Amino acid sequence: MRANKGSDTKPELALRSELHRRGLRFRKDFRLVLGGVRLRPDVAFTRTKVAVFVDGCFWHSCPDHRTTPKANAEFWSAKLMQNQNRDRLQDQALKDAGWTVVRAWEHEDPAVVADQIETLVRSPDA
Ligand SMILES: [Zn+2]
Repeated sequence: MRANKGSDTKPELALRSELHRRGLRFRKDFRLVLGGVRLRPDVAFTRTKVAVFVDGCFWHSCPDHRTTPKANAEFWSAKLMQNQNRDRLQDQALKDAGWTVVRAWEHEDPAVVADQIETLVRSPDA
């Protein structure tokens, strides 16, 4: 189990280099506060307002890989629930401010995620 929000994780790096390879320009760890909610998308396209999060399967309770540790189960289930609530709150704050939110799981293929992002940021009205 790695720290929840530390330095770059491997899935984030893989996605960033894939986006970079496609010539897309973005900000990493762009900090913003929207409606009192503090945010730091892993990848942000500030002009087209697309915010990308690469969510860890454990920390964000991915449906395929979610687990709750046996030790301190109550603590962990509360903690993981809190994370999910925070994710939803952040999504809402972004949407309210006109951002498009992309949430990728760390188990997803970076090329597939990059396809989705590329479509969004290269759309004609972007
Ligand atoms: Zn997963």
